[in-house]
Amino acid sequence: MKAILDRARSFKRRVDFESGEYRKLAEGQYPEVLFITCSDSRVIPALITGARPGEIFELRNAGNIVPPYGSPGAGSPGASGEAATIEYALEVLGVQDIVVCGHSHCGAMGALKSGDDLSALPGVDAWLQLARPELAPVLTTASDDPSLPDVAQGNVVNQLAVLRTYPVVRQRLDGRRLRLHGWYYEVDTGQVHELEGDGRFRVHSG
Ligand SMILES: [Zn+2]
Repeated sequence: MKAILDRARSFKRRVDFESGEYRKLAEGQYPEVLFITCSDSRVIPALITGARPGEIFELRNAGNIVPPYGSPGAGSPGASGEAATIEYALEVLGVQDIVVCGHSHCGAMGALKSGDDLSALPGVDAWLQLARPELAPVLTTASDDPSLPDVAQGNVVNQLAVLRTYPVVRQRLDGRRLRLHGWYYEVDTGQVHELEGDGRFRVHSG
């Protein structure tokens, strides 16, 4: 923690906060995209995309899961970080693109695949249960690849489907004011695989 704290304390000195870019941030945020991804420390949206402060609105949790609209915890009505963040991004910030980004070697996907007893982690168990039923077909057929591409990619597809059940998302999709994107990021290679219309993930070299 010490190194992290030291870097935080010196951040202001290391960055040119007198520049116009940073001063402009005080006027408001105009992010282009809502980026939904895992809490995993190896997945850094700004690093992957080269985004600057103000460009990406992030929603992160274990396994990049979108709770089904109206489910317990999803908050309709009620409190849910996910529902609130999605609503704010679309209704207030006017974001027109949402990325759901899964990743390789994901601990949440690993727990789902292994079927381990999670009774000692009741919070994790209950959370992953939101994704488990829809992922069941993939969990039984997934390859033995330890990076779990099949499970993580299947989960991205499923979470995009859940997103479409949110009224605020559906309305914008119907009005062609919103685009949904599925990504799968390999933490050990840096490759971004993009979900295409045929349901497959492909790498496009930049
Ligand atoms: Zn993860």
